[in-house]
Amino acid sequence: MGKERKIKKPRGVAQLIPGKCIACGARCQAACAKDAIEMDDKGEPIIIVENCIGCRKCIKVCPTDAIEMYYTPEEQKILAEIAARAEAAAAPEAEEVSEEEAAALARIREYRGVWIFVEHTEGEPAVVSWELLGVGADLAKTLGVELCTVVVGDKVENLCQESFAYGASKAYLIDAPVFHYYRTEPYYKAICHLIEKYRPEIMLMGATGLGRDLAGAVATKLQTGLTADCTGLAIDDKGFLLQTRPAFGGNIMATILTEATRPQMATVRPRVMLMPERDASRNGETICESIPVKEEDFATKVLEIIEDSKHGDEYVDVAVADVIVSGGRGMSAKENFSVLEELAGELGGVVGCSRAVVEAGWMPVERQVGQTGKTVRPKIYIACGISGAIQHLVGMQDSDVIIAINRDRQAPIFEVATYGIAGDVFQVVPAITSRIRELRAKRAG
Ligand SMILES: Cc1cc2nc3c(=O)[nH]c(=O)nc-3n(C[C@H](O)[C@H](O)[C@H](O)COP(=O)(O)OP(=O)(O)OC[C@H]3O[C@@H](n4cnc5c(N)ncnc54)[C@H](O)[C@@H]3O)c2cc1C
Repeated sequence: MGKERKIKKPRGVAQLIPGKCIACGARCQAACAKDAIEMDDKGEPIIIVENCIGCRKCIKVCPTDAIEMYYTPEEQKILAEIAARAEAAAAPEAEEVSEEEAAALARIREYRGVWIFVEHTEGEPAVVSWELLGVGADLAKTLGVELCTVVVGDKVENLCQESFAYGASKAYLIDAPVFHYYRTEPYYKAICHLIEKYRPEIMLMGATGLGRDLAGAVATKLQTGLTADCTGLAIDDKGFLLQTRPAFGGNIMATILTEATRPQMATVRPRVMLMPERDASRNGETICESIPVKEEDFATKVLEIIEDSKHGDEYVDVAVADVIVSGGRGMSAKENFSVLEELAGELGGVVGCSRAVVEAGWMPVERQVGQTGKTVRPKIYIACGISGAIQHLVGMQDSDVIIAINRDRQAPIFEVATYGIAGDVFQVVPAITSRIRELRAKRAG
């Protein structure tokens, strides 16, 4: 293709718009460097066209927009051609798509709907499933598609109704004794059967032990992408699921797309997404399905469920606590955590900690908050002697109220804190505890 002829842009000349000049004091004349403006006896400009070079200075200084550019009809044609060329250059070129790519695009367009897997233990639902219905509703609304749940188990039809209460409009149910206990093989076969038949574009599961196991097996079988432990989910302008999660040790947030395969799969940890409102009056449609599997098909058998010993009386699940008083390396020693226990006791909360504390052997690992610990979303999070490393922040920054106590005013924890106290934890924490006790005693008295 030959090179396009260059067109010189006409400059035009200034011209007065009758009736708009207010005789402001010859600002236009003062601005003109080419002696192209003289003033008449009313104080209005007379433009000397031969001298005007179309520099527009007079137009810029005029307070009433009383001067405009004049172009001859010939010049106007040239301006129109320049504008048309600019518009053509700005228009995006139609993307060339190979036949293979076009077929892949057509294939992925067959997938519609947002699905949430309802996790449960012998019929007891995991709260993360309902949290996922909250974010799932936003995704489905943006895409203009249905929000559905997948319920697999033994006598678990009630979970379909429960998922309608949390916002699903449809539930796919596979209910049979062989699904009584979770086992990877029967469960992933059931889910894959439903996905292959009904083709959802998005499938979300909780990033729990069960969810991580199942999501990996399903994604492998269906040869599709899976992003684990997402902290953010959204839809981009092309309709792809944006799956955001911390990467490189939590130093950056990576957003991942599954472009060429379906469904787009992601897991999300408990407490990361907001719980939607429960409305028991909501209803939906239950689609009952079955797959031809029998107990004899599976090599793994569940003989007995034994409670984890650490889940005894001593065990504290920080992930579900409403108030967490968390200690960091600034607590200096294991025995100093009693100060935090006292404050937590007064507030009806529990004690959490940073990874530095776990590494020092001051607290058990299940109390650790952060990227490699628990994600928490309490009403109050009190960070005591915690610096606020990004790996800690990703686990607690969505708490409703964050109170940070640190003797270093520059500590990054103050950047996410609702209230910051620059001071020594060993003075501040006991002072807060005794003030609460005082107030309680006063109220009781
Ligand atoms: C891959 C990876 C994953 C990780 N996952 C996690 C995770 O899940 N959770 C987590 O917490 N960390 C995690 N970390 C570690 C994280 O990077 C930090 O090292 C850790 O959070 C620091 O803990 P800290 O704030 O208790 O200690 P420090 O960073 O040492 O901070 C101690 C703070 O206490 C303050 N202080 C000291 N004495 C007092 C006092 N008397 N009064 C008041 N303030 C005082 C100091 O000013 C300081 O700010 C991870 C790191 C990596 C690389």
